[in-house]
Amino acid sequence: MTPEEFREAAHELVDWIADRRIDVENRRVLPDVRPGDIAAAFPAAPPAGGATAAEMLADLETLVAPGNTEVQHPMHFGWFPSNASLSSILGDIASSGISSLGISWESSPSLTEVEEVVVDWLRQLCGLSGEWSGVIQDTASTACLVAMLAARERATDHAQIGAGTLGFGQRLHVYTTNEGHSSVRKAALLAGYAADDIRVIDVDPWTRDMDSERLAVVMASDVEAGGVPAIVVASSGSTGVTAFDPLADIVAVCVEHDAWVHVDAAMAGAAMMLPERRHQFDGIEGADSISWNPHKWMGTILDTSLMYLRDPDHLIRVMSTNPSYLRSTTGGEATQYRDWGIPLGRRFRALKLWYQLCIDGPESVRTRLRRDLDNAAWFATQIERFDGWETVAPVRLQTVCVRHTPPSLLGDADAISEHNHAIARAINESGQAFMSPSMLDGGWIVRVSIGVESTERHHLERLLELMQQEVG
Ligand code: PLP
Repeated sequence: MTPEEFREAAHELVDWIADRRIDVENRRVLPDVRPGDIAAAFPAAPPAGGATAAEMLADLETLVAPGNTEVQHPMHFGWFPSNASLSSILGDIASSGISSLGISWESSPSLTEVEEVVVDWLRQLCGLSGEWSGVIQDTASTACLVAMLAARERATDHAQIGAGTLGFGQRLHVYTTNEGHSSVRKAALLAGYAADDIRVIDVDPWTRDMDSERLAVVMASDVEAGGVPAIVVASSGSTGVTAFDPLADIVAVCVEHDAWVHVDAAMAGAAMMLPERRHQFDGIEGADSISWNPHKWMGTILDTSLMYLRDPDHLIRVMSTNPSYLRSTTGGEATQYRDWGIPLGRRFRALKLWYQLCIDGPESVRTRLRRDLDNAAWFATQIERFDGWETVAPVRLQTVCVRHTPPSLLGDADAISEHNHAIARAINESGQAFMSPSMLDGGWIVRVSIGVESTERHHLERLLELMQQEVG
């Protein structure tokens, strides 16, 4: 493809992207497809090439788009907001267009330094102190894995450069709660911690926040048994019910045992941009690492997961390999982001944040977050007014967890669970809205996650109608 052919095709593609955004509300939220349907529409053999850009666009529209779950749809209330502001999409296009390599500072000085700048802007916008240094990881799952590795090496005094974790000879413990994201357990296992050494700490039965007194007891008993507390992963806004583990208390316990504290604020971290919400993160300054995803509620298109570290030099020591072909001509003057995580090559992800922050601006993000918080509080009040509906967890931010109990099922936990699963399933299958059915205390509940860029109050009114229709 020549640059001139590219220019013409790209204009058409951009028109298609803009039209889709305008039109999104007229589509189904959940696509009407079964597993295998999409793949079956594609030829089994590889293409020979020669398709025109117009043909590709036509196939994108007919073969690909109908199989996309429309998470930008204002009636999408599933999982978490996965906003993709158009300003950040421009940054994504620019990132591809500038076509950097990003394996070292030398391979694209601007890639490294724009990343440093925007990560520090976001630190300031979140009210985090200048003690933090940041990097963009692809996802919060990766950030958690990186934290696990850093913690392992701190707990073992860099066993990896000698006898390794096995040779270290003491059990290394990880602490989290049942509300902790599934990526925590996955990261622990990938980082070489034993499943038997992962401690699931009790939570408050209503908020589901970690019981820090219990944490202290469990850690002390692990130490007494000859183990080493390596890391606590604390949720600041858990995926299920938006639990906020008590960071200050957790930090106090961990300081005693020199255990690493990683704060998983993947979804909720955007709330740190609201000064009136920072109290929910009290104690965060005492942690060792934090991750949060602008690619969720804040609205930067995937994949821009921020990770902040108090002691990046420790991480660099764990991650750096420094083969000769990557040796720097700049000595220690330049940041080498390859030593802050796992991949060598990196995309120019900072452009997505740069575009969004410069075009939309932080104040427009704050206004939207406050709208969503108001909408969630309003929704929770409204649904409680309908017979049989109750909220089953406190509304800490923009997620509302509810359950419906018809009088005929009172006392039958299994039937109530199935009934709630059926409500969410029916609404989702209708294509009119999408909500994640979610498990709480072993039973299905209906979880309404509010925060898509285009979701306004009238969309929530519509959702209430749909939910009421489902329960008759
Ligand atoms: N942690 C929490 C609290 C989340 O809500 C999520 C996403 O659902 C994750 C971690 C994982 O995020 P990512 O997809 O960036 O790995």
